[in-house]
Amino acid sequence: MKKKEKALVVLSGGQDSTTCLLWARKEYEEVFAVSFDYNQRHRKELECAKAICGEFHVSHKILDLTQLNELAPNSLTRADIKVDEDAPEQGTPNTYVEGRNMLFLTYAAVYAKGLGIRDIITGVSQSDFSGYPDCRNVFIKSLNTTLNLAMEYEFEIITPLMWLDKEETWEMADRLGGLEIVRDRTLTCYNGIMGEGCGHCPACKLRRNGYLRYMERKQNG
Ligand code: ZN
Repeated sequence: MKKKEKALVVLSGGQDSTTCLLWARKEYEEVFAVSFDYNQRHRKELECAKAICGEFHVSHKILDLTQLNELAPNSLTRADIKVDEDAPEQGTPNTYVEGRNMLFLTYAAVYAKGLGIRDIITGVSQSDFSGYPDCRNVFIKSLNTTLNLAMEYEFEIITPLMWLDKEETWEMADRLGGLEIVRDRTLTCYNGIMGEGCGHCPACKLRRNGYLRYMERKQNG
């Protein structure tokens, strides 16, 4: 199959967006990546993203959104707010950053248009959306329409993981030949520990359970 021309991947340095980068490299001739500095507590995320792009010779840009932290206090950017270990009964968990995906994708779109790119790839998933409203398909479709109207341009926001759970995301990384790089060199942990992570934050639990389920299924053929 002939590859498509070029795409921009929104890359956080975590499991999902890195799997999307692997996917994009297979689908497109030329892949660009963009990451955001929003004063996340774990700046290692950005280093992971940078290192992964270096490894794959992908052009990588980091954009500054550091004021988001002032407007939307949350446990990912503020050291004085403790990460919720379990999902709250109501509302969004305190790891949710108000408006984050909308801002990221909007900035990504402005950058993409400047590069003559229509396809923007993001690793959001409705299956494991952790209660984040801006990971849902309906939001992505709505923003896609809005961006097209705002800039008179035919963007396509592509979400390869939208209907996959974590087990299937591991399977995808493996199929793309990137299981080790995703397992060892990405950062998903809310406590900022690369690879396997702390093991007890919600992001680690989700990632690890998916990995174990996938490995078990793989071993049983
Ligand atoms: Zn963790």
